[in-house]
Amino acid sequence: MDIERLIADRARAIDASGIRRIFDLGAKLKNPINLSIGQPDFPVPEPIKRAAIRAIETDHNGYTPTQGVPPLLAKVTDWLKTDLGWDVRAAGSAGEGQPSALITTGTSGALSLAFAALLGPGDEAIIPDPYFVAYPHLCALAGAKGVLCDTGEDLRMTAERVEPLITDRTKLVLLNSPSNPCGVVSTPDECRDLLELCRSKGVLLISDEIYDEFSYPEFALDRAAGDPSLARCPSPARLPGAHEDVLLIRGFGKTYACTGWRLGYAAGPRELIAQMAKIQQYTFVCAPSALQHGVCECFGVDMGDQVREYQRRRDVVVERLSAVTDVPTPGGAFYAFPKIPARLGLTDTEFVEQCVERNVLLIPGSVFSSRTDRIRISYATKLDTLQRGLDVICEMMA
Ligand code: PMP
Repeated sequence: MDIERLIADRARAIDASGIRRIFDLGAKLKNPINLSIGQPDFPVPEPIKRAAIRAIETDHNGYTPTQGVPPLLAKVTDWLKTDLGWDVRAAGSAGEGQPSALITTGTSGALSLAFAALLGPGDEAIIPDPYFVAYPHLCALAGAKGVLCDTGEDLRMTAERVEPLITDRTKLVLLNSPSNPCGVVSTPDECRDLLELCRSKGVLLISDEIYDEFSYPEFALDRAAGDPSLARCPSPARLPGAHEDVLLIRGFGKTYACTGWRLGYAAGPRELIAQMAKIQQYTFVCAPSALQHGVCECFGVDMGDQVREYQRRRDVVVERLSAVTDVPTPGGAFYAFPKIPARLGLTDTEFVEQCVERNVLLIPGSVFSSRTDRIRISYATKLDTLQRGLDVICEMMA
């Protein structure tokens, strides 16, 4: 059978060649200095592992309610109250005007459901450029157009840059802070201006905060002054009444190093969450059962040591790279997005190929952007490995 003929245009339109090329290059290297990794290098904290194992052993292995298991929903509800002052109410309960929440199959699951619920043919979604690789494809899968917002040399998604892109077809603006691939953290003023703009245009603001726990203190709000382990990331969701106009998306995978568990959550306007839950029911059905019980424990786990360690690595990356090139200081996540000095006359792909020849694996910026003058460095790797990778990169850039 000619299967090729049967494939939908929607699938054909997805070009995965950029990222695949990097995987292929990486596969050729025996023991590369790998600075391309998009997940933490520490293990899942013990209480979370134990709770997941216990859940399997006590037979929590069946379908769960579409919305999520009650104990996890209760923890998320408490946390959103503490963190944002949101008064999350269960789906179907009274609570007109109050937000609700949905446990999803990873942050990707939440994004897919939101896009499926909001976007259709002819609709537009404004996404940052540089962007997390899935964003443009998720727009396309929903039949909509992903409109790239050029974030300039400082890589910041500001209201000023978004405003000219809003048309009467725009349904949503997507903010990702701390960002992948740049590590940029929006300031409280930038969050406020963006939300005010979206409100004035009747457009939803989606806030992808998968890296919210990786926020370094000088860029973050101090939950308790003087304790950097408790720094919190600025967010449009912190603004008064935000639950009516912001869809908040967060994940467990990056913070607790359980990316393969596929768990995240969405919270926001209840009419939207209800639509997303309906789509979840007929697609993902529910998020992984035992693992939902596992991450119930995460709210009591202090990740301060890990975040401080990542901050130390961030400091090393910035100190070394800023001696040879332009690198906006990452305020969060575990990526830096430095420029390839123009005098080298190399595109990002050429630069990465030369790094690969020297056993260092990076990702060319064009995998995340329409620009070709930057690279993404992940510092989710041991400090000595990072230092050896930076030796090569700095020598090439110098
Ligand atoms: N958003 C951003 C900005 C990301 O970097 C990622 C993962 N790299 C995701 C969403 C998807 O995360 P998850 O594994 O929870 O689906």
